[in-house]
Amino acid sequence: MAESSKRIIRADRGNNISCKGWQQEAALRMLMNNLDPEVAENPDELVVYGGIGKAARNWACFDAIVASLKDLENDETLLVQSGKPVGIFRTHTMAPRVLIANSNIVPAWANWDTFYDLEEKGLMMYGQMTAGSWIYIGAQGILQGTYLSFVEAGKKVFGSADLTSKFILTGGMGGMSGAQPLAGKMAKAVILVVEVERQRIERKIKEGYCDYLVETLDEAMILVEKYTAAGTPASIGLVGNCADIYPEMLKRGITPDIVTDQTSAHDPLNGYIPNGMTFEEALILRKKNPQDYELKAKQTMAKHVQCMLDFQSAGSETFDYGNNIRKYAQDMGVANAFDFPGFVPAYIRPLFCEGKGPFRWAALSGNPEDIYKTDRLALDMFAEDEGLVNWIEMAQKMVKWQGLPARICWLGYGDRHRFALKVNEMVASGEISAPIVFGRDHLDSGSVASPNRETEAMKDGSDAVADWPILNALINTSGGASWVSVHHGGGVGMGYSMHAGQVLVADGSDEARQRIERVLISDPGMGVIRHVDAGYDSAKQVAKDKGIRIPMMEK
Ligand code: NAD
Repeated sequence: MAESSKRIIRADRGNNISCKGWQQEAALRMLMNNLDPEVAENPDELVVYGGIGKAARNWACFDAIVASLKDLENDETLLVQSGKPVGIFRTHTMAPRVLIANSNIVPAWANWDTFYDLEEKGLMMYGQMTAGSWIYIGAQGILQGTYLSFVEAGKKVFGSADLTSKFILTGGMGGMSGAQPLAGKMAKAVILVVEVERQRIERKIKEGYCDYLVETLDEAMILVEKYTAAGTPASIGLVGNCADIYPEMLKRGITPDIVTDQTSAHDPLNGYIPNGMTFEEALILRKKNPQDYELKAKQTMAKHVQCMLDFQSAGSETFDYGNNIRKYAQDMGVANAFDFPGFVPAYIRPLFCEGKGPFRWAALSGNPEDIYKTDRLALDMFAEDEGLVNWIEMAQKMVKWQGLPARICWLGYGDRHRFALKVNEMVASGEISAPIVFGRDHLDSGSVASPNRETEAMKDGSDAVADWPILNALINTSGGASWVSVHHGGGVGMGYSMHAGQVLVADGSDEARQRIERVLISDPGMGVIRHVDAGYDSAKQVAKDKGIRIPMMEK
């Protein structure tokens, strides 16, 4: 299973390449960047984020992928099956250089038991979303989305995007969840994050994502009260288990303004930590008696969700943040676990209807100045978009680089390709010093089927239709993305999601221009047509305004 190594992996920087072309070099650097100790949660075991989300199946596979990419011709395509390179075929220059399939299991077998059995036999790894598809950029990748969700919650409940003096309560300060303290602060709130592993909080403090580490609820509430009273944004990490801390908060009559959760509940064995024991005791139990561990983890999730429901009844705006915790709680007898909504139907779907989602780019030069130049371009091109301008200005001030400098920026249909084309020109002219890779989370508008998350409560009931992510991967492959991936089980765990990713390299060439003009139109376009098909009027309007051809859309 977990094979550990103390190797330090870091992507090359600059313009000298060790592959036969920039497409391959970009895949190599982004694979390595995923495992950079500044970026990955547990690089020794190839774990990038999200519980056990890995970049390669094992170290031998990692070495073989690296060797394959270095050897790969400009008209060849490498196939990667759950983190193992399994074949190289001649395709053509415009085809993707890498095609990836991660953690896909035939539907009737698609559960964690089968997955762990296959993993034990060395046949599979868990790719999460951007871990196994080599476009994770550290906590910034989810920062803007989390910030947007808090802001949208604020608008809905308090009529204002400004959360000054508001108190947010949440759980988890790991890979992605570690964005929460900073996102809360960006929204001007006071945010308390309960995290069971002390070192995770220490890391976020070091990275500038969190202000305080405290050991007790008393200390935490003194800070919460002080900063909410002063109207000063602050972030606090409390070492503890949510299911131990929340009942005490409820007993004391504490009612946060907003409650959510991002513990790694999607994986009851290797992610979520059961309560009533120390973190260290939990790790021992996980090894000694996995079945008992899993049962206790699910029982803890039931308590945790019950508390979230109780906070909701007391008046907190409560929402699920995409870790499937409601489903596990429901399975353990919390019949009304789905009484609080997921963040997508609650706040994000209108953005998905415009093809908007977590678009991102990274500078292969390693030079932050290249990202600042892209920031200036975005500020110039989208000056009328107040939210976007605020985001970039805040990100420049508050986000520390992790690995290769990168920027997350939610852009929609029409804007993604316009922006990338300009960047490609800047690379061609030498204004940007080396190629830029453009990618996105699999959590995007038209690339995922996940009934408890991205496709929860679709208007036409099409939540579980998984044809969309498959079509997304197929059109992005046809269009010539640099690498394309199809995964199962990301975000919410085995059996609950199918999703696809794509990454595209802007190396300044005319070939890159052509790839951008195809892929960065069809990829967000999938988001628009998926929501048109589901009956969303705003998506229909976007399709009409932008001239997207949809054969059966009524005029
Ligand atoms: P992670 O494993 O790196 O971090 C999760 C953290 O939760 C860990 O630090 C862990 O110690 C802590 N934790 C586990 N059980 C706990 C408990 N009972 N009480 C308190 N702390 C506990 O995972 P991650 O990358 O941060 O992702 C977290 C979850 O969020 C996953 O389920 C992931 O799929 C989901 N996710 C959601 C989105 C989104 O956009 N909504 C994006 C990415 C990930």
